[in-house]
Amino acid sequence: MSMPTPSQTYDAIVIGGGIAGASIIKSLKNNNLSNFLAIDSGELPAQGTSGHDGALCHPYIGRGASRLQRLSMIAFNEAKQIWANYWSGGGVLHLARNVENHDKNLMSERLLSQGFSFEKAKVISADEAKALCGVSLAGTFFPEGGWVDLKQICENAFSLLTQQQALMSCTVTKIAYRDKYWIVYDKQQKIIGVTPRLFLASGLGVKSLAASTQIDLPLKPVRGQLSTFSYKKESSWARRQPTVAISGKAYCLPPIEMNDGSYQWMVGSSYDEHEEDLSVWAQSHQENLNLIWEMLGKECDLAEIEPVDAFVGIRCVASDRLPIMGPVKGYPGLYILTALGSRGVMWSALAHQMFTEHLAEEIRHSAFLDDRFFAGARLTGLGLSEDLVSSLLPARFLAGASNSKPILPSG
Ligand SMILES: Cc1cc2nc3c(=O)[nH]c(=O)nc-3n(C[C@H](O)[C@H](O)[C@H](O)COP(=O)(O)OP(=O)(O)OC[C@H]3O[C@@H](n4cnc5c(N)ncnc54)[C@H](O)[C@@H]3O)c2cc1C
Repeated sequence: MSMPTPSQTYDAIVIGGGIAGASIIKSLKNNNLSNFLAIDSGELPAQGTSGHDGALCHPYIGRGASRLQRLSMIAFNEAKQIWANYWSGGGVLHLARNVENHDKNLMSERLLSQGFSFEKAKVISADEAKALCGVSLAGTFFPEGGWVDLKQICENAFSLLTQQQALMSCTVTKIAYRDKYWIVYDKQQKIIGVTPRLFLASGLGVKSLAASTQIDLPLKPVRGQLSTFSYKKESSWARRQPTVAISGKAYCLPPIEMNDGSYQWMVGSSYDEHEEDLSVWAQSHQENLNLIWEMLGKECDLAEIEPVDAFVGIRCVASDRLPIMGPVKGYPGLYILTALGSRGVMWSALAHQMFTEHLAEEIRHSAFLDDRFFAGARLTGLGLSEDLVSSLLPARFLAGASNSKPILPSG
């Protein structure tokens, strides 16, 4: 093994140039840590799952106050502030599961019991939705909801780095811990850098890097395709256009009018577990189209709309469907941020705030706090309790590490 040079020694190394890596870079900077290295295998940042500009964001609503629901309320609040400069849209209409038997009072009571206020989550009838959202479909309207340009966040984060802080076109193949330092290796088994603080933020790539240091994480790939459809202004689709983003079995953004008078419409996203094929599938376009047709009304003519573009990405999903974030118990200075699933906007914002607070606490104490993820006063005030934090930590999957039990998927 060749010895690292002083110029290869960093205060922190971040592996991954997607939204997870970008949010960690922001946390390092918030703590005035500038001697860090951000590494990505792509020539540019956001060449993976974060390479799209239409990531929808609204709090999750389920039947009860599950951990996912409680976490998503806090994380949504963070996302609105932290990604404010990349936010678009004037609300999201989340369609009722059963639009025919939509009971406004019952739903309003349920939302209130889950901690929502009438201003932040309005249960609306089909008539109210027509006026507010352009479509006659009952549901819950989140006035603060919208969509985020993930790609732009990552590009901007990397454009602010110095040459010494960013290393592109470099694939990390192995990590190892020796003498209180993490060592990061490239494909040729050469040392890229050494650091007391290592952040694994490489999406599904975290699985093999963690495995190289005997950490087994239950991560799986879920392929997703976001379709862009086109239709003419005289088509039946143009008569049922949403004016806000809509979510349900599928989601869509408001269609954009093109120079030639036609419309382009982003609709997503297919969900294929254990698939990693990045090519565009005609079958996924068809799935997206069928779902949006079912959602928005079956009067529209399927022959009047066609796919013109697509984004394909591989989501990284943990077996309990919650993100994995925080320090790794028993591995001082090792942190993970992955398994953002279909909620990269929210979970990256929550992680950013938590890592900012956690690093500040570690720096204050000159010690690694691998037993807990320090949430800070603001998030605690918003309801981030001990059980919620435990449900995020990598330790929930580590043999022998005491932690709260993994929870079952709730949505
Ligand atoms: C079709 C689709 C639609 C989606 N819609 C939404 C949505 O509406 N709302 C929402 O919130 N989320 C959405 N998501 C999810 C969101 O895009 C992801 O949660 C998020 O982008 C994951 O970010 P990440 O940084 O963890 O992973 P990535 O963006 O994949 O970043 C990981 C990076 O690590 C690099 N890397 C991997 N391995 C290595 C290695 N060994 N060495 C060096 N570099 C490495 C990769 O090159 C990559 O750049 C969607 C996802 C898909 C696929």
